[in-house]
Amino acid sequence: MDNDIVPALLESIRNDFDQRAFNSAKLKTAVQLLKNKKATYIDINDYSVEIGQILAEVLGANVTAELLPDGRMYFNIADRVINETLQKNYDLIVGYANDVQTQLNRDANIHMRAQVPDLNQDRVDGIVNRVSSEADFDKIKWLLNEPIVTFSQSIVDDVLQSNVEFQAKSGLRPKITRRVVGKACKWCSSLAGSYDYFDKPEEIYQRHERCRCTVEYDPGSGRRQDVWSKKWVDPQRETKIEARKQLNIKKKTPAPSA
Ligand SMILES: [Zn+2]
Repeated sequence: MDNDIVPALLESIRNDFDQRAFNSAKLKTAVQLLKNKKATYIDINDYSVEIGQILAEVLGANVTAELLPDGRMYFNIADRVINETLQKNYDLIVGYANDVQTQLNRDANIHMRAQVPDLNQDRVDGIVNRVSSEADFDKIKWLLNEPIVTFSQSIVDDVLQSNVEFQAKSGLRPKITRRVVGKACKWCSSLAGSYDYFDKPEEIYQRHERCRCTVEYDPGSGRRQDVWSKKWVDPQRETKIEARKQLNIKKKTPAPSA
């Protein structure tokens, strides 16, 4: 390749994305709900789907077989284009989610920082490797469509999971609710429901492609439990109890008379 197409390609992707995002009524609604302190995980989910769909459209319009050398998205092109654009998706979604989670914590009187998960680089690498392993871009371009939306939703699932786990481990009783949207498959229908953190199904955070199920959680009263849930084991609990017993024994033992 004597000509590096990536800088110009990224430039047009950036401009196209920013313009579509700026004009998106759904994103405007999401931002307004946040301003009014009314945003929930449903809105974070909607926000992520919209961001994902915009990026999918932008990639579809800008990355074409005609543009790519040999009609193939070689690794060094895929690596730079996909990493930059998915990083931006991550930054936008996590930024919005963090603001909403902060608000939810405040509303529930929980004095805890909103948790932010890391970007799942494995998922990004998976897309880069698959798209660049195919010699004919036209045969694999679907990968830059719906899977980009699924990737964006998975960021919300990660945010929710890290906040729920953090709060549960801090002694709160978060409830997780998963709802189906539209016609749901058997698997999704079986996962729908409201669960206590400690009784949730293993697959609660998982989704298949085109799955628009929503996952929400309620931090509960914001009050900590008086006792640790039986299912949550503080790894140092036994040691602490043992240490306290020892202290008591020492205190109770009468001082030897001299
Ligand atoms: Zn689903």
